[in-house]
Formats: sequence, C-alpha cells, structure tokens
Amino acid sequence: MVFSLSNILEARKVITGVADRTPLVPSPYMQEKFGQEFLLKLENMQPIGAFKLRGAMNAIMNLPDDVAGVTCCSTGNHGRGVAYAARQRGMRAVICMSALVPKPKVEGIKALGAEVRIIGESQDDALVESQRLVAEEGLVEVSPFDDPYVIAGQGTIGLEILEARPDIETILVPLSGGGLAAGIAVAAKSINPDIRMIGISMDRGPAMHESIRAGKPVEVEEFPSLADSLGGGIGLDNKLSFSLCRKYLDDTILVSEEEIYRAMQTLYYEDRIIAEGACVVGIAAALSGKLPKLEGPVAAIITGRNMDMEMFTRIVTGQSIELGDYVIDGMPYGS
Ligand SMILES: *Cc1c(COP(=O)(O)O)cnc(C)c1O
Repeated sequence: MVFSLSNILEARKVITGVADRTPLVPSPYMQEKFGQEFLLKLENMQPIGAFKLRGAMNAIMNLPDDVAGVTCCSTGNHGRGVAYAARQRGMRAVICMSALVPKPKVEGIKALGAEVRIIGESQDDALVESQRLVAEEGLVEVSPFDDPYVIAGQGTIGLEILEARPDIETILVPLSGGGLAAGIAVAAKSINPDIRMIGISMDRGPAMHESIRAGKPVEVEEFPSLADSLGGGIGLDNKLSFSLCRKYLDDTILVSEEEIYRAMQTLYYEDRIIAEGACVVGIAAALSGKLPKLEGPVAAIITGRNMDMEMFTRIVTGQSIELGDYVIDGMPYGS
C-alpha cells in the first residue's frame, strides 16, 4: 500500500473545522531539567479529549453515503472519535470494547449517541464482535490504527508541529497500534528526514515494540495499565501501521507503571495538565533517563485526557493504585 505525505494533506482538508489545531506549548520544567526546549502538543484539548477524532473523522468522511453504519473496537478514545464523527454524518455507530475500558470513556461514548457493546477482557474479544457486526449487519469497520485514512488523520499532528516549529529535532509519541506514530512520522520525515521519531509504550504488553523486534506482528498478553489507551495487539494480519512504524521509528522505549505514575504527577504539578497515563509515557521516558541524549527542541504528544478522575486524584495525592493484581505503591509527589 502506498502511503505518503499527500494522504495527510488530503486528510487535513477533510477534518478542518471538526478536529482542532491544538496548541504546542513549552514545558518550562522539562526544559530546565533537560537543558533543551521541550514542547507539549496538547491533543487533550480536542473536542473529544483525545487526538483520535482526527483519524476517525477522516475515515468516516471518506465513506460512501449508502453505508448502513460504522463499527469499531476500541480502548475508548477511538470509539469516542468514531461516535463523534458518525454523529456529524448522521450515521449509526456501534462501539465494541472490553471490560478493561474505564467507565468514563464508556459514558462519554454513550453520550454521543453511539451504541456500546462490552465484550470480554481484551481488545481481541471486542474485535470479534465488531467483525460479527460487519458480517451480519453490514456495518463498516473503522480500525483504530490500521487504516490509511485513520493514519493520515493522525498524521496531521505532524504537519501542525512542524509548521509551528520547523526546528523540532525529536518527537516523542505514545505507541500502541502505531497509527499515531506512523502518521506523524510520515508527515514529519517528509518535511525533515533528520527528525528523530521515538515511540514509547508501557512495559506490560507492548505489542508494537515486540513486533518490531520480532520483525513481524506478534501477540502479547494484555494487562490492566495506567496507560489503558495503549493496550491491545496490532493484529497478526496488520497491513500498514506495522510496516510504517518499522520503517520510520528510530527507536521504541518501554516505561513501567511507576514511571507513568510519576510522570502524571509531574505533568499535573509542574505544567498543570490533567492527562491520561497513555499520554505521559514520553515524559516518563525522559524523566527516567531512558531516552537517548536530547539534542535540539523536543515535542511530546499529550494524546488525551479521558481518565477516571477518582484514580487521577489518588495518583496526584500519592496514594497506591491497584491494577488487577498489580499494585503501584503510593508515592507522594517529590518523594
Ligand atoms: C490510541 C491512543 C494512543 C496510541 O495510538 P496508536 O495509534 O494506537 O498507537 C495514545 N494515546 C491515547 C490517549 C490514545 O487514545
């Protein structure tokens, strides 16, 4: 499949007016800490609270008029993007999710008028239901990451970053199915081939990281994580996001739940930003010394804000967190 900058430029025309051009703001704390400019791309400010609106909108606007409706499997934010975009087009949307998806995400999707199905304990279980809806009810499936329109939509973030700051040298991208990283990488490297693209995942079930190492898509076990939006596999029959990530990511890095916890506290106390665990993995990697030496301005994508506020409050007040049978010990900020 040929995928290039032109797909992303087309996507931008389609999503303008629905998905916002988000701010790219400095983090004085991170700059002080690393001696480099450190900028945050605030996708948590999108109308649905996450960047996924970009890809979902582009995919759904490119469907023919006569489809019966759309379906998807989702860790929450893609479903919300699909629900929002389907409503814009007056289409039926059925969102399939596993029981691992936090309740506020499920409620947010229902509030947009979409039907919700909760199936099983993993993304793979949810995918089976979404595929059944395609076969039996004629709905069109919108993949959360392995779809050229979705990747192109997410890639518009890369255009915006380089238009705002052509001197950016490193981009830190949260990495799950890789639609976000693939789109941004194609945009950014088409404009400046020397940009360094680093994908970051949680160390509990990092499907794209393991697949890149193996040289082919592999399955990983899915666990509860603070970075719930990064859960799930990349699909053993992955068509596009895997090959693009393999080609364009310079490195992939893993962070622990404790590092994510601390990064959420840091972003909250130092930059006054409420962000999901999935968004802070770039900051977590930087703070834990896992990044290669940072040279030149860095941009980190703050991908979304749709989290359980009770859990968020526990984190910023330094209390312990239970993720299934994994326990993160309480750590007050600055301790
Ligand atoms: C989906 C998502 C990601 C990862 O995007 P992929 O395209 O699956 O790699 C990161 N952060 C948030 C908040 C997300 O919803």
